[in-house]
Amino acid sequence: MNVFMKLAGATALATLVSFAAQAQDAKPNDGLNAALWYQTSVEYKTTAKSVYAGAQRLLGAAIGDHSWTAALEQGDNYMSKSPAIVLDVDETVLDNSAYQSWVVTADSSYSSKTWAEFVNTEMSTPTPGALELTKAAAAKGVAVYYVTNRKAPEEAATIANLKKYGFPYADADHVMVRGEKKEWGSDKGTRRDAVAADHRIIMMFGDNFGDFVDDMGGDVKGRIAKMDEYSDYWGERWFMLPNPTYGSWESAAFGDNWKLSPEERRQMKTDALNDWDGPK
Ligand SMILES: [Mg+2]
Repeated sequence: MNVFMKLAGATALATLVSFAAQAQDAKPNDGLNAALWYQTSVEYKTTAKSVYAGAQRLLGAAIGDHSWTAALEQGDNYMSKSPAIVLDVDETVLDNSAYQSWVVTADSSYSSKTWAEFVNTEMSTPTPGALELTKAAAAKGVAVYYVTNRKAPEEAATIANLKKYGFPYADADHVMVRGEKKEWGSDKGTRRDAVAADHRIIMMFGDNFGDFVDDMGGDVKGRIAKMDEYSDYWGERWFMLPNPTYGSWESAAFGDNWKLSPEERRQMKTDALNDWDGPK
């Protein structure tokens, strides 16, 4: 073995040792695939685009049919009211996947402090199809309301972020944040009520069941039953965007009990899987 071969061998060994060390350092994070899919996949982008495109094709019919309403809060005497659509913000019209990706790479977790800091960067981008749909609606005389669980101190940055990309109706009257009025809690029904008072809500958009109903049915089974109750709404008046990175679907698996340890929550999520017994 000449000196060069020895050196090459030593380098290879050093590389292997360094790889092994890295593998030990890198903690697996349950959010990796979800963030990767959300941020890089054609499959996510085309799904979101398809949801919005489907809604856009129905806009004319929804505007023209004065009995058409999408809100359970609509009440009576709504047929002569002017049309509006209601959209959630996070992961519905704005893509915050940079935050979720930071959670993965920093091996961190969501906190209201880091989230507020991220919101203030105003670096979120439009989800695929959201701008086209909201602009098409506005052009047809439909008012656009953004009903978000971002908090009151985050309203200005949210409006600025929406404005940056030309979202219509991005102003303090149409961006309805949590806590802006005392009856506006994290449940969105009271805000839908407020929009429905003056408008016929023709379509709603979200990435979370709570963007459509306050009563989400509780546990996983209850949620699915609740979803079935409204089977006529989905894809016609209610439009759900995919979000595998977080949401009430996740916490439903551990009884919405965030006081449990990460290990306990993870165990309950694993237990919620309907898995094959495996090979014999
Ligand atoms: Mg959302």
